Amino acid sequence: MRMPLPKPFSYSILLLLLFSFLSTTISTSFDFQSSGNDLKDVYPEILRDEAVARLQQLGQISDAEGYLERTFLSSASVKAGNLIRGWMEDAGLRTWVDSLGNIHGRVEGRNASAEALIIGSHLDTVVDAGIFDGSLGIISALAALKVLHVNGKLRTRKRPVEVIAFSDEEGVRFQSTFLGSAAVAGILPASALQITDKRGITLQDVLKENSIDITEEHLLQLKYDPESVWGYVEVHIEQGPVLEWAGFPLGAVNGIAGQTRLQVKVRGSQGHAGTVPMSMRQDPMAAAAEMIVLLESLCKHPKNFLSYDGNCKSSILESLSNSLVCTVGEISTWPSASNVIPGQVTFTVDLRTIDDTGREAVIYELSSRMYQICDRRSVSCTIDRKHDANAVICDSELSSQLKSAAFAAVKRMRGEIHTELPVLMSGAGHDAMAISHLTKVGMLFVRCRGGVSHSPAEHVLDEDVWASGLALLAFIETQL
Ligand SMILES: [Zn+2]
Repeated sequence: MRMPLPKPFSYSILLLLLFSFLSTTISTSFDFQSSGNDLKDVYPEILRDEAVARLQQLGQISDAEGYLERTFLSSASVKAGNLIRGWMEDAGLRTWVDSLGNIHGRVEGRNASAEALIIGSHLDTVVDAGIFDGSLGIISALAALKVLHVNGKLRTRKRPVEVIAFSDEEGVRFQSTFLGSAAVAGILPASALQITDKRGITLQDVLKENSIDITEEHLLQLKYDPESVWGYVEVHIEQGPVLEWAGFPLGAVNGIAGQTRLQVKVRGSQGHAGTVPMSMRQDPMAAAAEMIVLLESLCKHPKNFLSYDGNCKSSILESLSNSLVCTVGEISTWPSASNVIPGQVTFTVDLRTIDDTGREAVIYELSSRMYQICDRRSVSCTIDRKHDANAVICDSELSSQLKSAAFAAVKRMRGEIHTELPVLMSGAGHDAMAISHLTKVGMLFVRCRGGVSHSPAEHVLDEDVWASGLALLAFIETQL
């Protein structure tokens, strides 16, 4: 899911990924240097040089001076959308902008009424963002389609292909995730039109400012008919360190973690830091600290806290051990003065795992142990569930087709034959999560330097941009 906060690479579920990866056999690592193959077949001018130049160009379009920031329908977002629309037309696609500011480009192929493949990612960014998050998925899709277009093979596909640049995934402006893709999937409630940004402007007003007069009825019309869609594919930077560690440019995604956000409030007895004896304190800060350490221990070693059969089946314990990540990212105290024992401490808990049943078991165990700490320390506690999203499992057939396409890309570039590539779980949310309500989804991750994302230091090698475009090209050529 999206927060306007920097997203550390710990979102990627390292242990599961390493486990998945180690269970595969990879013949060697490689970095896509010149293979000596005939470069005509791998289109470096379009898939690498032009794609990288476009990523750089898009990365310059910002609402802020000196750093990258593009939020929902801001002037930079509109400008970026227009640029993307031009690139869609350059790739031979018919384009339009829908009532939520999503940019669409489509080619019908030989049979306009066949179910369409949708390829997408988001054009909005976080604050002080990198240039690859979201944009890479749009640009590599357009690069692949452009190759087909210049070769005269675009209009002969057996089903329609549509690229969508989603207007809002990060949720920075309205603190609401996936506005663009949720509308296309038909899961955006009509009430979303009334949510407000920091300045108190409603989503409906922002759309009006952009000459989009939207009613609740229009919103419902944005939903795609599931019968008209074959599947959804998204290429995205990994935002974690595993592919780099593995020495592999691409990885298949088996699913996107489910998530719960909690808010914990601890109330104690506010007092003078110099006069209240230690034995007579009801200090919510010390209680919060103990709860946070408990959270870390539980999430590192769930098997020590959840009993087999008691709370969990062994398979759930196994998947929790491999995929559970928990974070306290925000904490505030009242009155927050160095010479005052706080009266109240509030902190958030972000908890993610691929196993939804396991997530419930963890929350149950965590809550009951937190309340025990509060009782023992004579402070009062409330734990509120602020947000829940179930895990999304990628379609196994689509995933294996994407894997084959990744192998084909490697083979074309390097002449090397591989039979396995890393299988990763995504700890971060993506548009694919919303679109999974509409159709089957598959994702490919692309290696990024140091696993760093949501930062200007975010970086993808030119050769890996190339690999992602070539994999999408191979996918379309073989499946469509
Ligand atoms: Zn993203």
